[in-house]
Amino acid sequence: MARPSRVRRSIACCLLAAAALTGAARADQPQWGYQGRHGAQAWGDLAPGFATCKTGRHQAPIDIRDADTTKAALPEIRFGYMPARGRMVNNGHTIQVNMPPAGGIGLADGEYQLTQYHFHAPSEERINGRRYAMGVHLVHRDAQGKLAVVAVLMRLGKENQALKPLFARLPARPGDKVTLPLLNPIAMLPPDRGYYRFTGSLTTPPCSEEVSWQVLKQPVEISAAQLHAFRRLYPMNARPIQPRNGRTIESD
Ligand SMILES: [Zn+2]
Repeated sequence: MARPSRVRRSIACCLLAAAALTGAARADQPQWGYQGRHGAQAWGDLAPGFATCKTGRHQAPIDIRDADTTKAALPEIRFGYMPARGRMVNNGHTIQVNMPPAGGIGLADGEYQLTQYHFHAPSEERINGRRYAMGVHLVHRDAQGKLAVVAVLMRLGKENQALKPLFARLPARPGDKVTLPLLNPIAMLPPDRGYYRFTGSLTTPPCSEEVSWQVLKQPVEISAAQLHAFRRLYPMNARPIQPRNGRTIESD
């Protein structure tokens, strides 16, 4: 098993590689997807670097069952996002917004900068077995390369004003990019910031572990038209639920 510092370095390296990715696939990156022979069940066998997808014991996403959570005095997540012009890219697996330095979050173990956020349809996390129409993952990194993700669940309802500037110009083809107007990611969060916390992994290859997950309990809403706009590009980009393997899920 790799030492934590090595794992962190490899996560940082893979994220940099992902940020440099301009199209659906790079010559040195094995093809992967959500269905068929490159689907989630096969990820661990597609490349030696993806082995954690099948051997990892702390994988994500998980189904968060209230009955299995541990009440904890979780500190509030200190959101310190600032308005910034993100770069929205269709990376062949999702729509992702790469962020310039524009603040981040404070957790019990330190400060994390927001590096990117991206979407899944349906949501990857489930709460008491319930899956939501969509979810957004806000990915943060600390000075040592450790990752912390904030997940926001989205259910069908009224039009989401915060997502309007994005969903009006979703880049249609893998590799397409759009520079967004000045936006503050705080607008995507629900008013109630209560959350579940657990240790998991990236939900895409290479499925690296030691990722700190914060799943906000209160969902936000998106309209059917917004969901449709995303699903026209990505009808299904959610990894299946992974075993909990005795992990503690904290709840505030
Ligand atoms: Zn994600």
